[in-house]
Amino acid sequence: MTTLAPGATIGILGGGQLGRMLAVAAAELGFDVHIYTDEIDSPASRVAARTTIASYDDAAALAAFAAQVDAVTFEFENVPAAAGDALLAVGAVVRPHPGALATGQDRLVEKRFLNDNGVATTPFLAIDAAADIAPALAELGAPALLKTRRFGYDGKGQSWVGAASEAASAWAAIGAQPAILEAAAPFVREVSVIAARGHDGAVVAFDVCENRHANGILAETLVPAQVEARAAEQARDSVFRLMTALNYVGVLTVEFFALADGGLLANEIAPRVHNSGHWTLDGASHSQFDLQIRAVAGWPLPQPTTLGPVRMINLIGDDVAEWAQFAADPRARLHLYGKRAARPGRKMGHVTYLSDC
Ligand code: AMP
Repeated sequence: MTTLAPGATIGILGGGQLGRMLAVAAAELGFDVHIYTDEIDSPASRVAARTTIASYDDAAALAAFAAQVDAVTFEFENVPAAAGDALLAVGAVVRPHPGALATGQDRLVEKRFLNDNGVATTPFLAIDAAADIAPALAELGAPALLKTRRFGYDGKGQSWVGAASEAASAWAAIGAQPAILEAAAPFVREVSVIAARGHDGAVVAFDVCENRHANGILAETLVPAQVEARAAEQARDSVFRLMTALNYVGVLTVEFFALADGGLLANEIAPRVHNSGHWTLDGASHSQFDLQIRAVAGWPLPQPTTLGPVRMINLIGDDVAEWAQFAADPRARLHLYGKRAARPGRKMGHVTYLSDC
């Protein structure tokens, strides 16, 4: 069981904005950060002490990286299994354990894992060929949502199927690859639970977040979410149970659909800090990034408290052009990710407002 002291170096796989905010949190606790990314001039590397630029399947580069850091974590869930294996093979301390990634990388495995641990989801069926879609649709009811098993995010790799006649086009639209078909979830809102588990097994969670999406991308998070206290408690207990089942160390996020009757259905797991938790930088006693670094370091985890009603707005693509307006607003806490170019759908920054707005 490794506990890191200030001055140690934490390695982070991934160079995006999550890595950048993790690096800043690590610096605040006295750690150095070494970023491993395949991207030149990444947002995270520009705030880190050191960077390795190499591909995620370069075993020699991963071994050299592991030799220069005291523990490793990651900021994205699609880390190739080979990268985790290469790090473990040279004895690196990796938190959370890369084995936890496999569960979230495949929607079929993920949904079964949720159900096996008593966490309800919308009904789903495995789809291995276009011919599987019509019978599955008959069982689940139309419309239903076809989702690739792997590498889907921000609404990518998904296609609604309204009738059996649309099976072939939906199969083509997701790239004709292994998928699941999900019954439409009749949700009234979407919420997420962000929790953390320490190396000692202790668990803590943030207040439930309410998330609004636009074009499949998170647009806004409101805290506290409008869910009944009992439902919020059940959701937190579910996430704690999942983390314990995975013997997880670090921050884990679960997205849920909230139903009109107060029930919650889990949608997906992210084994990392999450966009819906960015408000915690300004709106909580401890941020999700701070908790992740503490967990990686083997430190005890404080129970975070919310500082009041919070609203977080994502700056997507050209939204960032209004940075000067946000910067001039004393109520707005502006966070920019240092990305060189604003492309449509690209997360460029976020703004948080506390209760006074
Ligand atoms: P996901 O990639 O699974 O997070 O899905 C992206 C978004 O699509 C979700 O945030 C929902 O807004 C919507 N969505 C996903 N699954 C379903 C479903 N089974 N029923 C209705 N909407 C869904």
